[in-house]
Amino acid sequence: QHRSREQIERITAMIDREQVRFINLEFTDVVGVVKSVTIPVEQFSTCLSRGKWFDGSALEGFARIAESDMYLFPDLSTFTILPDTVRHLPAMPSGQRYELSNSDSVARVICNVHTPDGQIFDGDPRAALLRAREIARSMGFEFRVAPELEFFLLRFENKTPVPLPHDRGGYFDLSTDLAATIRQQMAYTLQKMGISIEASHHEVAEGQHELDFGMSEALQVADGLVTAKYALKSIASQQGLYATFLPKPFYGVNGSGLHIHQQLFSLETGKNAFVDEQAEYGLSDVARGFIAGQLAHARAMCAILAPLVNSYKRLVRGFEAPVVINWGRVNRQALIRVPRLSTDTQSSMRIELRCTDSSCNPYLALAVMLRAGLDGIQRKLTLPAPMDENLFLQDENERLQPRTRLLPATLGEALEGMREDSLIHETLGDSIYEGFIDAKSIEWTEYRQQVHSWEIERYLPMF
Ligand code: GLU
Ligand code: MG
Ligand code: MG
Repeated sequence: QHRSREQIERITAMIDREQVRFINLEFTDVVGVVKSVTIPVEQFSTCLSRGKWFDGSALEGFARIAESDMYLFPDLSTFTILPDTVRHLPAMPSGQRYELSNSDSVARVICNVHTPDGQIFDGDPRAALLRAREIARSMGFEFRVAPELEFFLLRFENKTPVPLPHDRGGYFDLSTDLAATIRQQMAYTLQKMGISIEASHHEVAEGQHELDFGMSEALQVADGLVTAKYALKSIASQQGLYATFLPKPFYGVNGSGLHIHQQLFSLETGKNAFVDEQAEYGLSDVARGFIAGQLAHARAMCAILAPLVNSYKRLVRGFEAPVVINWGRVNRQALIRVPRLSTDTQSSMRIELRCTDSSCNPYLALAVMLRAGLDGIQRKLTLPAPMDENLFLQDENERLQPRTRLLPATLGEALEGMREDSLIHETLGDSIYEGFIDAKSIEWTEYRQQVHSWEIERYLPMF
């Protein structure tokens, strides 16, 4: 782990200045849940030199019994003071609360997971993105992304979630109500934690909102997304509301996606490698290969990008979510869109992947997206023609499409697709790949065996 003396001095000074009392050591498990171990600040220097021990076998899909001793090593570039709106501490194992006065602070730092012999643990999702990033580097690229995080703000009435009732906003409506205030507070808090938010707005559905991240290097964005998810929940709950990233909370209403805008930046020229002013649509060969690669691996990476049973209730026709594996310029039903955001092609040329949702583990999602795109460049895959906007409806009638041209319709189908793709396996590594497939197969089987209320309503009167 590379840490400079200046970095350590800067953080030590910050700890003194802000009266940091506790530090949350964060990492994620394979299915994307944020885990946190809290240490008193006095233990931090030992943690930096020797790591913080934890029992890896307690985590889903994380470790086999033989390798349950794990160590957390802080990545100091992620060290942040938690703003008041997110300052929270887990209860101690004894159930006691930590003592904290108003002037005390809590910091958090994101960690890499190491094995007892000091190796990077290959089952750590963050390590998968670090590996993919190295491969991009060796090809001369840096991967930059900007996610659009959609979510609902809900209240609970008789244990039933309902969208914030006095929020009657629609797409881009300027409302001055509570939801707008909360959204502003969310953007402000994330900014304070070093996460750049370019815009925030109301989404199409009642109670639905969106925060748009600024374009940054992928690892930084993945760290930011993991942080954002708990920070936003915490802010909402202080107003008595529940922020949900569930992909499809309500039947018949738009779901919540996590669109990811992507760019490759050339380390050699210092420019956006997707741009070629002379070429068709301004898309360089690198961009065309990258899109072709993501299209080719779309079915196989879907389980990582949209990992819940519920994710596939969102990926249906009619709610601005993609169904067919295609690309286009304007159409919101395309899987990959090449939006034209401004006349400054250098900064605005990007491709937007739209099947992703916020239930994914961002490290794994960005790792497979990157490797799929790079694979398309390496193998010089040809990009099919874009979807013509006018022909779209007739052309893309999904009933007429072979299954291979459609996104998986269920989690089960997505897992099948994942099993057939060796690049995705290689990207994740054995430990994550097996852990993920095991956990998700159990989830799928459990769901498949349920009898849903729809079946009773529809069939019981008839049979
Ligand atoms: N909420 C839509 C989805 O499920 C996307 C709406 C938009 O284009 O921003 O992906
Ligand atoms: Mg949106
Ligand atoms: Mg979008």
